[in-house]
Amino acid sequence: AAKAAGKRQWRRFRPQQRIRRVERHELQARLNEAVSRGQFTLRYQPVVDLATGDVAGFEALVRWRHSRYGLVSPDQFIPLAEETGQISPLGAWVLHHAAADIARLRHISRASAAPYVSVNVSAHQWRGAEFLGEVCGALDAAGLAPGALLLEITESVLMQRDRELDRLVREMKDLGVRIAVDDFGSGFSSLRYLREFPVDVLKIDKTFVDDIAYNTRQVALVQGIVHLADTLGLEVIAEGIEEPAQQELLAGIGCRFGQGYLFATPMTVEQGEEVLRRRGGDGRPEGSGAWPCP
Ligand code: C2E
Ligand code: MG
Ligand code: MG
Ligand code: MG
Repeated sequence: AAKAAGKRQWRRFRPQQRIRRVERHELQARLNEAVSRGQFTLRYQPVVDLATGDVAGFEALVRWRHSRYGLVSPDQFIPLAEETGQISPLGAWVLHHAAADIARLRHISRASAAPYVSVNVSAHQWRGAEFLGEVCGALDAAGLAPGALLLEITESVLMQRDRELDRLVREMKDLGVRIAVDDFGSGFSSLRYLREFPVDVLKIDKTFVDDIAYNTRQVALVQGIVHLADTLGLEVIAEGIEEPAQQELLAGIGCRFGQGYLFATPMTVEQGEEVLRRRGGDGRPEGSGAWPCP
């Protein structure tokens, strides 16, 4: 009876829950081999012009294709990879593959504004001396213009700025690569770094978007961020848009770009290709068709 109960209990675990129970050292050991074994894969979530529906770019989001746990979410392994330094080879892998994939998508796109790719960069990478070289290498190998690459930095990294980070970011900017603040407003939000730090894009955290249709204070806050961004000449992307009401509201207060399940979940590069093809190369719907949600 105990065995049956144990079995039942085990069956109740979903894969996401189960991986939390895996010994950290096991995960760590497997993470080490995962890059060389080609177990990582990228998904791409479109960033959409909220007024026109055009695809402006794609955010690259990594997944771990694990033999036992299936497609594992980055929230399950990125923090561990950061702690152990394994993020360095993984981050380099992501950069190279994202650059190559977007170069392919840009060949398909006949629109005047070909899509960019947005890549998440961890604190560890921003601290590494080899990062600039990796970025150049990835751009060269893919034949990608630097302006087609957007690097996402988190507020926590910006809060621990020092001369080296500032110099690295300036070098990136000189190269023509753009920088976005990811999850803007979610944590250590500080207006100070906006004064001194040459970012190009603010990605408004999903928590601001979630209840925006029901919360006038939230509207005022987002309106303030949009206004600030306009004044500083920054682009704004609202994250995690799930409902049409959120899209309308955000577009109404001048937020130009957004991403979220309302438009599309993260998709394979082949699906991204299909989206661009189907929409006459610029991602715009032919007719009034809604977005496909793969
Ligand atoms: P993030 O950069 O803020 O990415 C947005 C996350 O929100 C993604 O989760 C995306 O799938 C999810 N999302 C997008 N639209 C919606 C929506 O409408 N509703 C909801 N509920 N979620 C939405 P994902 O792919 O699981 O990534 C989680 C985090 O993992 C990312 O947050 C990022 O911080 C990190 N990450 C992902 N890929 C990489 C990578 O290549 N390198 C590094 N360093 N971190 C990564
Ligand atoms: Mg991001
Ligand atoms: Mg984000
Ligand atoms: Mg996030």
